[in-house]
Amino acid sequence: MSVQRQKMVAGNWKQNGSLALVQEIQAGLVEAAIDKVNVVVCPPAPYLAAFNATQMQHFSLGGQDVSLFAGGAHTGEVAGAMLSEFGCRYVIVGHSERRADNGETNELVAEKVAVAIEAGLIPIICFGESEQVRDEGRLFEFLKEQIEAVIKRNGVTCLTQSVLAYEPVWAIGTGRTATPEQAQEVHEFVRQFIAERNSEVAESVTILYGGSVKPDNAKLLFSQPDIDGGLIGGASLTLKDFVAICSATN
Ligand code: PEP
Repeated sequence: MSVQRQKMVAGNWKQNGSLALVQEIQAGLVEAAIDKVNVVVCPPAPYLAAFNATQMQHFSLGGQDVSLFAGGAHTGEVAGAMLSEFGCRYVIVGHSERRADNGETNELVAEKVAVAIEAGLIPIICFGESEQVRDEGRLFEFLKEQIEAVIKRNGVTCLTQSVLAYEPVWAIGTGRTATPEQAQEVHEFVRQFIAERNSEVAESVTILYGGSVKPDNAKLLFSQPDIDGGLIGGASLTLKDFVAICSATN
């Protein structure tokens, strides 16, 4: 399945939410009738079944992670086919919290990209540096390694079936956002890095920014030429804020 470059806002609920929130967000998104932007919600797996994605236009569901395994004795894991069966079109892969909490390496993330695509899902591949890496002047070298691992395992054309999300770790859940210039600099660098391998892929890949995106900073971030939308954590749990952020892509 190949994905065209598009305006997109994805909400990552992490380990938050409730059935009541599913109902509130779903009803609110239907009422807001957001168009011209692809809206994705990634709730914890048990809540996937409570969404009725078919009711809504420009709306998709996503998982927050995918198992490396297709099935079997892997307690706690969720297979790609299970996510698909419950209506997911997307799955987040390589979020910095999983890299930190679960020791997910660049190579393992690259493997999960393969597994997601194989299961017919579009991986939202997260990458981004810590504050220490940035301070040490290793930003671009570090990001290159994260993206190179995905390309080495899957070939550059896997990015025609994926979405990228630049999420500086120092900006996630901290209230500190990358400035539009800082984010644009990285997005441009990444698009260029991909273009050196395949210029068509570079032009067609959607690259999201994530890290404390809020209604008051979304518009400026999303108006940068290489930023196609956002991956939203905290603000995706509040209907008003999430709708405002989705609307800021226009
Ligand atoms: C995230 O964790 O993907 C994220 C961007 O979180 P927040 O928006 O809360 O910084």
